[in-house]
Amino acid sequence: MKSWSCIENCGACCKLDLSERDNLANKLSNEDIALIKSMTSKDGWCKYLDKNNKKCMIYKSRPHFCRVNEFSVEFNDYLKNGDKFLISCCKQHISSIYGKKSEQMIMFKMTTEK
Ligand code: SF4
Ligand code: SF4
Repeated sequence: MKSWSCIENCGACCKLDLSERDNLANKLSNEDIALIKSMTSKDGWCKYLDKNNKKCMIYKSRPHFCRVNEFSVEFNDYLKNGDKFLISCCKQHISSIYGKKSEQMIMFKMTTEK
């Protein structure tokens, strides 16, 4: 069975531009939205992502919506389809940021499809 796992050197979900994340809007409180706006740089990326190594600089204290294991239960698709839903979300992010044939996509598929 396929199981979801985050990979190194990605960070594709840390581009926080809400205009490109329709499915998130109704899962977030007004405080969350204000926080996301305050975290988002002009180029759409989270200002806490270290772009050199694609690591979160505030990993231990990152907001709840960055914690996949916590936030995923807000989505009916996750409750219905489990990791399949998470894998599909990651693939969408990776594809739109790095491309379908990117090294991140190859690595993600190797990690989740073994
Ligand atoms: S898109 Fe998925 S694999 Fe990439 S950093 Fe985010 S959670 Fe991890
Ligand atoms: S706080 Fe960390 S995990 Fe959340 S979007 Fe920013 S860099 Fe990514």
